[in-house]
Amino acid sequence: MKTIQDGQCGLCRHFGTHDPDTQKLQQIRISRQAPEDLTEECGLPQNESLHLVVTPISGCEGFEPAAA
Ligand code: SF4
Repeated sequence: MKTIQDGQCGLCRHFGTHDPDTQKLQQIRISRQAPEDLTEECGLPQNESLHLVVTPISGCEGFEPAAA
C-alpha cells in the first residue's frame, strides 16, 4: 500500500471522476492508503480530453481537495 500525502491525486476531487466505485475512492480518501498498482483517470477538464491516467501519489497544480 502507498500512503497519500496532502495535495496528491488520491485526495483530489478529480481522481477517478468516472469510476463508478465511489465507495473505493471514499475509502482511499479516509484511510489515505491505496494499493500500489492502482491507477485512475483524472477528470480535471484540462486533462479529460487527454485521458490522463494517474496514480494516487501523482499530482498537479489542478489539485482540488475532495469533499470529506
Ligand atoms: S492530476 Fe491533478 S487534477 Fe488530476 S487527480 Fe491528480 S491532482 Fe487532481
